[in-house]
Amino acid sequence: MTLVGHFINGVNVDTAERTQDVFNPATGEATKQVALAAKETVEEAIAAAQAAFPAWRNTPPAKRARVMFRFKQLLEENAEKICQLIGEEHGKIAHDAMGELTRGIENVEFACYAPQMLKGEHSKNVGPNIDSWSEMQPLGVVAGITPFNFPAMVPLWMYPLAIVCGNTFVLKPSERDPSSTLYLAQLMQEAGLPDGVLNVVNGDKVAVDTLLTDERVKAVSFVGSTPIAEYVYATASANGKRCQALGGAKNHAIIMPDADMDNAVAAMTGAAFGSSGERCMALSVAVCVGDEAADALIEKMSAAMQDLKVGACTDNSNDFGPVITEAHMNKVKGYIDSAEQQGAVVVVDGRNPQVEGYNNGFFVGGTLIDQVKPGMTCYDEEIFGPVLLVVRAQSMDEAMQLINDHEYGNGTCIFTRDGEAARYFSDNILVGMVGINVPLPVPVSYHSFGGWKRSLFGDLSAYGPDGVRFYTNRKTITQRWPSSGVREGVQFSFPSN
Ligand code: NAD
Repeated sequence: MTLVGHFINGVNVDTAERTQDVFNPATGEATKQVALAAKETVEEAIAAAQAAFPAWRNTPPAKRARVMFRFKQLLEENAEKICQLIGEEHGKIAHDAMGELTRGIENVEFACYAPQMLKGEHSKNVGPNIDSWSEMQPLGVVAGITPFNFPAMVPLWMYPLAIVCGNTFVLKPSERDPSSTLYLAQLMQEAGLPDGVLNVVNGDKVAVDTLLTDERVKAVSFVGSTPIAEYVYATASANGKRCQALGGAKNHAIIMPDADMDNAVAAMTGAAFGSSGERCMALSVAVCVGDEAADALIEKMSAAMQDLKVGACTDNSNDFGPVITEAHMNKVKGYIDSAEQQGAVVVVDGRNPQVEGYNNGFFVGGTLIDQVKPGMTCYDEEIFGPVLLVVRAQSMDEAMQLINDHEYGNGTCIFTRDGEAARYFSDNILVGMVGINVPLPVPVSYHSFGGWKRSLFGDLSAYGPDGVRFYTNRKTITQRWPSSGVREGVQFSFPSN
């Protein structure tokens, strides 16, 4: 069976002390094995990154960016292969994998012009013959730890920007779908990146803990579930590292009585069920204001769901594929069971989807559940599956209160024709990324991505301008060159102009 190994110091490392099966979730078969790095292997990767840092730090930013221009080209040329690798291990359909890759390439494009953001600031004559400037210096070795659901895009949020900022990088991707991530690192080498600047170690908690505690690692970018994000943030911080840890979500959409219901249903169908709901920005709760809006939504959504096509990634006409593992499939079905047991009404039931030819795949069909209330497990927790919950509220304020009271604050959206309501919503909702008639308000690469509350631990969001701040240290230099012959006396008071 093929072993997915590591990429350290420009070399593919295929040794494995421990391994884990990688599945094709559409067939349910174990198709590969992934190496789970020992502490020593991770330390080797950190050492390679540490050794590569001085020369890379002193490489002109434009030259660092030039590697990304070539990398972008290679990503585009090899897009089909990348999407295939994603599909085989994640299960997402090729059109969806292409969407992921395209958003990842946009982050590479942003990294290409990051030198523009590294210029710093300059002030002449802050005092007599004194000039002052601030510059952005790289941190050193930076680590990235990423989730299964975007094996190409989320790593691309991190290392292209970190590397153009002058850092070297150790990436620990998800062990559940590692092949596309590893392949991208190999393309970086083909693009001309010097050995050791980007290293990939596959692994589990052993690898993560080594990255979080090794003093040579200066900063950690994490994306994954909230319990692990919280752990990573606490451990990295306790070990003196800068850390940004993006966690889970429960994204609500408010459907106002005046919403264009046909457009809202179309938008929500893609946002709730696309990628089997395994997106941190997936819409998982529709909060309808008034029973009339709720009844209309249920009627139109149930009809739209009759046409959902669930299947393997190899058929590009499918809408979405399987979930990632058998355990996760059972967990998602368990949430639907619990909703029923706790008094909600399952309107469309995806617990037993028929996917011809794929009887052992990890499939869950689109599911719609009405009469959901806070306190039910399916509402309080992140399901991360193709399940849309409907909550009925009697006013917009009640709907907004539900969102503001929820522990997560990643994304949200309002469907309305009323500009005043939309403005009030975006101004007062306690969520980091807000859509107005836009169901998946994922910021483009030149903004930054981050939730509020327990969806993000740390001060800076991912990628974009916040990414540049995260991957650099600001240094402010104040310099005096007195005119020749000028003598300056001793001054004991605090210097001021
Ligand atoms: P996960 O938390 O299980 O894994 C994320 C990473 O942490 C992986 O690399 C994994 O190997 C590692 N990890 C897992 N358990 C660990 C442990 N006990 N100790 C140390 N490291 C550990 O997340 P996942 O299931 O791969 O991804 C899905 C989750 O990620 C969802 O909750 C989703 O909302 C979230 N997510 C968030 C964003 C965001 O931007 N906020 C984006 C994508 C995914």
